Amino acid sequence: MKIKHSFILIALIGICFQSCKQDASNAPVSTPVVDNTPLKIPGVNGDSIFQFVEKQLSFGTRVPGTPTHKACKDWMVQKFESYGAKVMEQDFDATIYTGEVMASTNIIAQFNPKQKKRVMLSAHWDSRMIAEKDKDKDRQDDPIPGADDGGSGVAVLLEIGRIIAENPIDMGVDIILFDAEDQGEPGAGKPEMWCLGSQYWSRNIVPKSYDPKYGILLDMVGSKTPRFGKDAVSAQFAGTVQDKVWSLAQAMGYGDIFINDNTGPLTDDHYFVNTIARIPMIDIINQPPRDQTETGFGPHWHTHDDDIDIISARTLRIVGQIVTAVIYKESKNKF
Ligand SMILES: [Zn+2]
Repeated sequence: MKIKHSFILIALIGICFQSCKQDASNAPVSTPVVDNTPLKIPGVNGDSIFQFVEKQLSFGTRVPGTPTHKACKDWMVQKFESYGAKVMEQDFDATIYTGEVMASTNIIAQFNPKQKKRVMLSAHWDSRMIAEKDKDKDRQDDPIPGADDGGSGVAVLLEIGRIIAENPIDMGVDIILFDAEDQGEPGAGKPEMWCLGSQYWSRNIVPKSYDPKYGILLDMVGSKTPRFGKDAVSAQFAGTVQDKVWSLAQAMGYGDIFINDNTGPLTDDHYFVNTIARIPMIDIINQPPRDQTETGFGPHWHTHDDDIDIISARTLRIVGQIVTAVIYKESKNKF
């Protein structure tokens, strides 16, 4: 009988609920308001991102410890501050494979620093001091412009800072730019000689007690013919995030660029963030099919061709739009 009574009670509540619903204008509101408004994802501007690449190049190369490196840093810090971020500079000495010590700085730009729920977005902002893959042997010792390798990811994240300033987001977002990523030894050098900024940050995390849900690393996201496969390190440590980002990209119509091909394990900043800081982080990085590349990366990689001519505003916009969709969806628990 208990069951029957309950059933009647539920039926009565149901009828009441129905009538209350029909008479909502007079009824006091007692139930929590569910936010059913459609999620508006701000549009990113490819030309704006392209200009952020140009601007970085305008300072010259960003080899740690050089005056042009510092000038670019000062501009980026000022830019993030103008977007309302709380910016911290984490200085450290990077000892590279030659023994040279480079004065380096990780840049941490926090949006909504008091919010508990956070997502981390990263790129490396230094450019490589040599061009060991350049066809011109006489210029292999010269630093590269690094339009794609470094510049593209930073530019996308500057644009996301601009977007957040114009479209408040109900979540914490941390844009963390690593320095001294790209000064490793050519050839079969040790992985630990790369990504010195992310290694330092992962062992000395700023801000303290930092606990983001996950991180997204952007590296070489600006070329005209991009191909973003799923690298094995991201899959191992942040496979769920990787699958969700790729599914979203495919749902947005970019399945020809964000492909489900499993690429090999990659030594990039995300490797050290995953293994030392223990923050699940994926890498979005351009890798041509294996039979079309000797190096594993685009033909401009670590050459003087890595300049503004190989950069596509369309590719930058696509990557920026996908990451923007991730964070605004995440802020409403819809990612
Ligand atoms: Zn590089």
